[in-house]
Amino acid sequence: PAHHVDAAAFGEQHITKGIGRLSKHIFEDGKGTLITTDAGVKLLDMTSGIGVCNLGHCHPKVTEAAQKQCAKITHAQVNIGFSAAQLELIKELLPIMPHPSLDTFFFWNSGAEAVEASVKLARAATKKQNIIVMQGSYHGRTAATAAMTRSKTIYGEGHGPLMPGVFATAFPYYAQFGLPADTPTSELVRQSLHQLRLTLQQQTAPSDTAAVIIEPVIGEGGYVPAPPEFLHGLREICDEHGLLLICDEVQSGFGRTGTMFAVEESGVRPDILIYAKGIANGFPLSGIVSTHELMSRQKPGSMGGTYAGNAVSCAAATAVCQVFKEEKVLDNVAARSKQLVDFLQDLRKTPSGRLIEDVRGRGLMIGVQFSGTPTSSVSSNVPAAAKVQISGKVVAECLKRNMLLLSTSVFDVLRFIPPLTISEAEMAQACSIFKEALDEVAKQ
Ligand code: PMP
Repeated sequence: PAHHVDAAAFGEQHITKGIGRLSKHIFEDGKGTLITTDAGVKLLDMTSGIGVCNLGHCHPKVTEAAQKQCAKITHAQVNIGFSAAQLELIKELLPIMPHPSLDTFFFWNSGAEAVEASVKLARAATKKQNIIVMQGSYHGRTAATAAMTRSKTIYGEGHGPLMPGVFATAFPYYAQFGLPADTPTSELVRQSLHQLRLTLQQQTAPSDTAAVIIEPVIGEGGYVPAPPEFLHGLREICDEHGLLLICDEVQSGFGRTGTMFAVEESGVRPDILIYAKGIANGFPLSGIVSTHELMSRQKPGSMGGTYAGNAVSCAAATAVCQVFKEEKVLDNVAARSKQLVDFLQDLRKTPSGRLIEDVRGRGLMIGVQFSGTPTSSVSSNVPAAAKVQISGKVVAECLKRNMLLLSTSVFDVLRFIPPLTISEAEMAQACSIFKEALDEVAKQ
């Protein structure tokens, strides 16, 4: 319709070109797994707004909690007093932390801000400066986090100088090493831990290094779970050298991988855990949690900010935690994950499915890789036009069939990241659209 074209053109004109955008759809309404556009098109959402609306768009209990809070107090400023909504939220968060020592919180708005907060804490607590990140990691687009992001150069390119003192080490991902998909995990882990030890001998001395930061499932770098033995190895090396271990669970947290936090699967204790996205199901809220002892090493006044843990977002997050319990969301994650992975593995036996090189992930954070060769395009947000790889073409074909699906990383990877509340029928529909799209691409 004409009004849609006009509105999209208005957006193109008045919103920065710096935003990569998957489609020109204009989202007006979202309920559960469906988004409705201004033109009345219903889109099946396999993105959850990049892993945010884990309980589906506008979950009624979350919406109700936010509405109630709006009528009470919206801005309960944390440098001036305590926010009742924040205290309530902490009570809900304490029992779901991956380790009981993680009992002291700091709230922010975005994932990147929380990552920066973790760096500040690590530096203040250790009185050391350097940070070791994983090759392929994504931690945000601010000047500090762009320096820590190693999934694509686009995030830092032309924006330097970025924060100094960041060193990258290997993550056990076959494509990152240029190795075949069937390379044994133990070999990738062995090589990656070896590289970390060398990093500490050749690039940044332990006495200068505050922390190692890792996404327990690499997100923007390709949807690759860190093997538990790698996380254990990291913990050991950190303990040996007095480094803090920071887990960035901005994307993998809040039920996404089938446990509340991905690191739980390994039993490894992070010193600092970073959360955002799914915590408030669409309201801006992020933060870090650490031990009371480490958090006490920060000087009063060194942390905080105008919107540090907005009251409406906190109320929404409290409702999110309650919904996880009341609606047994993690049971659905397990069932729908199996449904999706079984489908993808069966698909691999069909002619078009042979294009698939690897299916991996945990819970509803599932990656489908077509080829280990890096793509020619640097942006995951621009489909077929610029990105000639299979993933880009499949994304475009899915879009034609009214399904939103994202690619990820410099490799040829698609990511399934639907709402954790997705129904069996919706998942079946997503699978059949995906097969149609892949069949179409295979013909081209
Ligand atoms: N860390 C990880 C692991 C992420 O996936 C993201 C966002 N994709 C961020 C940090 C940054 O979060 P935000 O976009 O909210 O700043």
